[in-house]
Amino acid sequence: MATRPYNFSAGPAAMPEAVLQRAASELTSWNGCGMGVMEMSHRGPEFMSICEQAESDLRELLAVPKHFQILFMQGGGLAENAIVPLNLSRGQTADYIVSGSWSEKSRVEAERYCTVNVAASTQEQGFRQLPDLQHARFSSSPAYVHLCSNETIDGVEFHTLPELAALGVDAPLVIDCSSHIASRPVDWSRVGLAYGGAQKNLGPAGLTLVVVRDDLLGQALPACPSAFNYKTVAANRSMFNTPPTFAIYMAGLTFQWLKEQGGISEVEARNIQKAKLLYGFIDASRLYESRVRPDSRSRMNVPFFLRDESLDDAFLQGAKEAGLLQLKGHKSVGGMRASIYNAMPLEGVQALVNYMRQFESANT
Ligand SMILES: *Cc1c(COP(=O)(O)O)cnc(C)c1O
Repeated sequence: MATRPYNFSAGPAAMPEAVLQRAASELTSWNGCGMGVMEMSHRGPEFMSICEQAESDLRELLAVPKHFQILFMQGGGLAENAIVPLNLSRGQTADYIVSGSWSEKSRVEAERYCTVNVAASTQEQGFRQLPDLQHARFSSSPAYVHLCSNETIDGVEFHTLPELAALGVDAPLVIDCSSHIASRPVDWSRVGLAYGGAQKNLGPAGLTLVVVRDDLLGQALPACPSAFNYKTVAANRSMFNTPPTFAIYMAGLTFQWLKEQGGISEVEARNIQKAKLLYGFIDASRLYESRVRPDSRSRMNVPFFLRDESLDDAFLQGAKEAGLLQLKGHKSVGGMRASIYNAMPLEGVQALVNYMRQFESANT
């Protein structure tokens, strides 16, 4: 098998090669049944078993407690920005913590459905550090508090989730965890609802994962579409309408792969090692720089800059020739970005660092 280049895309992102190979081998006939997964009824026994296995594997991997529902939905993180207030705002104010481009998008969308209070924002600091929630201005009784636990574009990550009760806030915490779900354990005692598009760290685009506490079901506004009402989706075990069957299957294969790797704690240890290697190299170099405050840096998305921007194009061209793909930074931030999700092996980060070192010595 020829080795593939290392793909640092922020999303849709690289998937484990073993998962892709397995799916390829089953594409025309799943488990010898004579049908591919894309061709099966979502209500037939074959797909039901795939879906139930995916759900129970995810529950086990992330230690999701029994009083949370796991929902397989569609529409991505951006649709959830509307679906969350439609389901949870109850005509009240919702508090938003703005720590980067994605949580800012969430805030803007929520304004269409409810009153929004920005409890904290680091926009003036250029989204280079986590907000100080000790000094946040929460409203008196928000319907919920929303934050993005890993800002994919800005490279800022909450390494611990806030305990709202300890901050004097009696409200569920809603997290957009699209780009670091399954990269580390989740403290469910601090979470009311978590959502994420699958295409960063779980599987292909088209599947949106929602994990929601039971007591938050059944409060949707009348205008909420039935297919986006969490209670309806939960009551129908994610089969109110046709779910994204192939994407669920691919995510299920990824969950099995994660279990084979030793589970989330082992995967987290590798992610820490990968991030340490890359940030350590960047901080020690004279050509590259990270602009995110060290305590706020994401383990998954590493934006970095060449101090001499005129070298950007040559850097990217050389990277491509060295088998290191999709390193260009997001257009709103510029520079470079290396996304090093679960599927990126340590060897990929080592190859990136080796290339960056060679490029630096050839150009300074
Ligand atoms: C990618 C991303 C989204 C958007 O997801 P879509 O599936 O394109 O709607 C939302 N939030 C975060 C944190 C993301 O990384």
